[in-house]
Amino acid sequence: MHVLITGGAGFIGSHLVALHLAQGDKVHVVDDLSTGLRANLAPFEASPNFRFDEADMLTWPLLQQAAAWADRVYHLAAVVGVYRVIAEPTRVLATNIAACERLFRTIAASGWQPQVVVASSSEVYGHRHAELLTEDMDLSVSTRAGTRWNYSVSKIADEALALSYSQKFGIPVVVARFFNTIGPRQTGRYGMVVPRFVEQAVRGEPITVYGDGEQTRSFCDARDNVRALDLLASREGGDALVANVGNDREISMNALAELIRERADSDSPISHVPYLQAYGEDFEDIQRRRPDLIRLRTLTDFQHRYTLEDTLDELIRERRIALTGTEHGHRPLVCHQS
Ligand code: UDP
Repeated sequence: MHVLITGGAGFIGSHLVALHLAQGDKVHVVDDLSTGLRANLAPFEASPNFRFDEADMLTWPLLQQAAAWADRVYHLAAVVGVYRVIAEPTRVLATNIAACERLFRTIAASGWQPQVVVASSSEVYGHRHAELLTEDMDLSVSTRAGTRWNYSVSKIADEALALSYSQKFGIPVVVARFFNTIGPRQTGRYGMVVPRFVEQAVRGEPITVYGDGEQTRSFCDARDNVRALDLLASREGGDALVANVGNDREISMNALAELIRERADSDSPISHVPYLQAYGEDFEDIQRRRPDLIRLRTLTDFQHRYTLEDTLDELIRERRIALTGTEHGHRPLVCHQS
């Protein structure tokens, strides 16, 4: 199979590249490297089945050719991360909506119908307090916090584009609503709580829990997420589909901080930071976020392979090796002699 991945140098994209190359597919990545990193693709560069183009999706001259080559397109290219979304409110809208629109317009004009998987987000549910977020719920955008919801607006627009092009041009689409994704290669630079807490715990610095820490998230390993995407896209039957993708284990940020501290055997204090200090004015956090996975489980035989603890242990080990050159960091190894 020929696979085109826009935004493939990003954290989730690079795991998709790994999955498809391992399955023997040919993979073409386009990424403008605004948040993606060439280093994320280093393990694949030597593969004859891999190709990379550094380009902006809004102007990439090879888009038509690449889309006509592809049997499947994953559209991940987007401005992401809470810090970036707050700092660049106009770019979020322009890039996220226009890139998706250009992709679908190009595919529709080509007459070729690759399967298109569009990365959407649990942000489209807004700040609902429901115990489980299900695909058929009405989506909501708050009017309270200014441009904070621009990412959500852009993803709702991308979903509408995908469903409209599918209806009008028969392009098979899967809209995947990602919940919080974690795993190797994720950076904490643009928000992203888990790499931040891991870094703080490994360094012995205060773990910065924003707000009162009672807000919850549900974290899924990226390697599970990309398998779920592939299974959804590979299913029989061509109707346009919207599906949650993630893990339904819910955890508060206070409990997450404690868990990471414990798994890292760290003495880091836990420090509560007011939202105003963390994000500035004009910010409203989501209090609860847990996916209903019935649709994913009904349509596929997907099962998670990574627990939260598995992923955290791996991230802690990797971070410790990167910082200290050893798995055990600055702690001396204690040998018990019998
Ligand atoms: N968060 C935190 N400390 C940090 C970074 C984030 O407590 O250093 C909180 C953040 O306020 C939110 C949760 O962790 O409640 C998840 O944040 P992230 O940016 O990872 O994802 P999102 O808010 O998009 O779910």
